Amino acid sequence: MELYHLTIHEVLEKIRKKEVSKQEVLQTTVDRIKDIDYHIGAYLYVNKKFHMNDGELSGISMSIKDNICTKNISTTCASKILKNFIPPYDATVVDKLYENGCILVGKTNMDEFGMGSSTENSSFHITKNPWNLDYVPGGSSGGSAASIASSQAYFSLGSDTGGSIRQPSAFCGLVGLKPTYGLVSRYGLIAYASSLDQIGPITKDVEDCAIVLNHIAGYDRKDSTSFKYRKIDYTKELRKDIKGIKIGIIKEYMNESMDAYVKKSFFDACKKLESLGAIVEEVSIPHVKYSLPTYEIISSSECSSNLSRFDGIRYGVRRSKDLLNDLFTSTRSQGFGEEVKRKILLGTFFLTADSYEEYYERALKVRTLIKKDFDEAFKRFDAMICPTSPTLPFKIGQRKNIIDKYIQDTYTVAANLAGIPAISIPCGCRENLFVGLQIMGKAFDEKTILNISYAFEQIHDYHKKRPNWR
Ligand code: GLN
Repeated sequence: MELYHLTIHEVLEKIRKKEVSKQEVLQTTVDRIKDIDYHIGAYLYVNKKFHMNDGELSGISMSIKDNICTKNISTTCASKILKNFIPPYDATVVDKLYENGCILVGKTNMDEFGMGSSTENSSFHITKNPWNLDYVPGGSSGGSAASIASSQAYFSLGSDTGGSIRQPSAFCGLVGLKPTYGLVSRYGLIAYASSLDQIGPITKDVEDCAIVLNHIAGYDRKDSTSFKYRKIDYTKELRKDIKGIKIGIIKEYMNESMDAYVKKSFFDACKKLESLGAIVEEVSIPHVKYSLPTYEIISSSECSSNLSRFDGIRYGVRRSKDLLNDLFTSTRSQGFGEEVKRKILLGTFFLTADSYEEYYERALKVRTLIKKDFDEAFKRFDAMICPTSPTLPFKIGQRKNIIDKYIQDTYTVAANLAGIPAISIPCGCRENLFVGLQIMGKAFDEKTILNISYAFEQIHDYHKKRPNWR
């Protein structure tokens, strides 16, 4: 296999054995981007200046979603309003990865400010699914997923507010983890909905996911919501037997409409888990059926507040006008895309005096009920499973209807509302269209869902596949 197709652990092994140099490893990624990214459009910015530190991940190239701040390197959120924004600092996660020797090769495309599920909402260009160029890579971290599926970096960091790491990972046949809220610092992540956002890895296999998590997890005093939790080596328990582990199939989700092949792949996966010794049973999370509307209210409310800072004065592009209010209006009218405007308008409405109680407060209450349901269920189960997305990847331009797009988030938003970790791993593939299996765990119990994922991965070969269009 070509060097760029390898996983992080395989490359590190080769470097350790002196079969390849770090320089060669970096060069293979740089060349790869030059050769193929114009077919795919994973990157918004390709880095040219590299600095390689020593460290455990020295030589490993990474791509970073363009809503995570990188010092002296443009960070646009794929929005016209931040077209010229160059942060004066690095996000904590980027800092940590640099310290360990990772090299940033580029910033990846996304749905503007993280709002969307296909990366078609980028203000700059669309990104194609490397497995089939007519299809979307998912979103909002679609550029990140596409960059890894096409081996244009060894791993990527995405952000997940309601599924944006997991769904594109599912669509691109990759592993994507949304960690527990508070495990990974959000300092330097440009907020969409602060109480839901988390940064996490997108990788080719489960071991790589554990490796990256090891390096980004941990308390950060610069993020007031970051949590002091004991340090764990997530690579340690991957190989444990999963015999006797109790896994719940979320019953309410099975009533939702889902693609027939997604359903088949999911139930096959359940049988496989049983064959590995896991105890797989149905579990009820009664309030989970309200998670989509609850998510829409909370995420748009928080977004309307978070995005108020983009006014043409403090950041990014400014449309000059004589009157201050006109400056705000014209900057924001021209700077934001359609979906972002829709979310801001909705959120502003939910937060008005007249609708605050009826919508926002109620959504917060339902969120608590959802969290309590999970707490209750986790007394009897170690993990819960469901598909990552109810559909297979869809064609570029195929889903114009906004409701059709929101449906993408059906199974993913609950983990953000409850603050629990959730991972997507491949569990089906038909004609180069992948299906993801989502595994949710108890708060701060990433190691269990990684353990289950690893066991599942070992009896499949999805993680060894690479798109062969080139
Ligand atoms: N598709 C969802 C949204 O637009 C989730 C996006 C995300 O997780 N950032 O809100």
